[in-house]
Amino acid sequence: GIRLKDEIFRVKQMIKAAQINFECNGEFVLQNVSLLTENILSMCLKEAVNNVVKHSEAKTCSISIAQMSKETIMTIHDDGVFKGKTDELSEGHGLIGMKERLEFINGSFELLTEDGTTLIITVPNDVK
Ligand code: ATP
Ligand code: MG
Repeated sequence: GIRLKDEIFRVKQMIKAAQINFECNGEFVLQNVSLLTENILSMCLKEAVNNVVKHSEAKTCSISIAQMSKETIMTIHDDGVFKGKTDELSEGHGLIGMKERLEFINGSFELLTEDGTTLIITVPNDVK
């Protein structure tokens, strides 16, 4: 599994190579989450950024992480146009795989497609 700090570094390179502006804020060295949860967050980040690069035609992609007392929230936003159908995510593809992995650790995501695409991923903090 890969640490979030390393995955951020990789997706930053991908975004820059696609000539999309990159913005990020938050602390990518996480507290109070297990390595499994961190690895799943890294996979989600990778898939979210793959989608931005592949589908969005965005000018800017921003990533933020916020740690609350009970949960960690990672948001990936792009200012492009969502190309899919939100009501029927197809099996065997990235977003469904992301949902399944998150459910395994009692996490979830919310997909907003009004103003570009925003993916809000929430996972419980599972280490004291
Ligand atoms: P795979 O992930 O298996 O390579 P995929 O990217 O097409 O395939 P999903 O990741 O599940 O599948 O995404 C579903 C669809 O949602 C995409 O085909 C695309 O139309 C749309 N989509 C997802 N993310 C974005 C985004 N950031 N911008 C625009 N469209 C998006
Ligand atoms: Mg995908």
